[in-house]
Amino acid sequence: MRQSVARALIEEYSHVPNNPPHNSQVHFAAIISRNHVVAVARNTIAKSNRSGFFTKHAERAVLERLGDMSLLRGATLFVWRSTRASEIMNSKPCKACAAMLDKCCEKWGLKNVVWT
Ligand SMILES: [Zn+2]
Repeated sequence: MRQSVARALIEEYSHVPNNPPHNSQVHFAAIISRNHVVAVARNTIAKSNRSGFFTKHAERAVLERLGDMSLLRGATLFVWRSTRASEIMNSKPCKACAAMLDKCCEKWGLKNVVWT
């Protein structure tokens, strides 16, 4: 993935909304194939029936948005985290996402996972 692509993504998508209040930072994920951005998504927080809130992580959200997993072949998945003050923070995927992304590499040919 080109640095310029990462920079453009961060500039375009890092806006963190002021609502809801517990959302002071946001994880974003993008899938880049042949220097084209084919999907972008952010984590979302939703109400669940049982335990109040759950978070759909950006990595899962972007794969759902992509839809067609065959598009992962040779692609890079880029994850970044931005605060409301536009600081870019560590966004290493959590254990569950890392396991899911490993499967994407093995099964669908995802080539790289890069994070800030
Ligand atoms: Zn995760």
